[in-house]
Amino acid sequence: MSTTALSSFAIDLACRCGAARLRVAGEPVAQLYCHCDDCRAAHAAAYVAAAIYPAAAVTAHGGALAATVVRATPRMRCAACATHLFSELAAPGLRSVNAFLLPAGAFRPQIHVQCQHAVLPVRDALPHFKGFPPGFGGTDERVAW
Ligand SMILES: [Zn+2]
Ligand SMILES: [Zn+2]
Repeated sequence: MSTTALSSFAIDLACRCGAARLRVAGEPVAQLYCHCDDCRAAHAAAYVAAAIYPAAAVTAHGGALAATVVRATPRMRCAACATHLFSELAAPGLRSVNAFLLPAGAFRPQIHVQCQHAVLPVRDALPHFKGFPPGFGGTDERVAW
């Protein structure tokens, strides 16, 4: 029963200009802040907010998308306004959706990852993993902040 409920739950997301549309189905497997150098370069930001979904749960359904690689991670942007939509994670079968596209209140961050690369440490009550946590092929090692 819960599987049916999850698969029928979907949110439609749009880029900043409205041309590119995404649909995400079900709950994210994780919501996090990433401090890696790849995300920082791709977003021109100190860190990014991301909602991680199974790849099959993230589908484009409108507008032209542009595939880009800034450093190593394949990413998709709106071809018209260049809003970052999602990236393909090194862990197979996962997509990292730009959490700024989520409806208000839907982003509920649980962890910080790749804190070893941080240029702007965020001192909050969430766990601060040095790299990726165990569930994403990393370790439980944390940073001091
Ligand atoms: Zn756009
Ligand atoms: Zn990252």
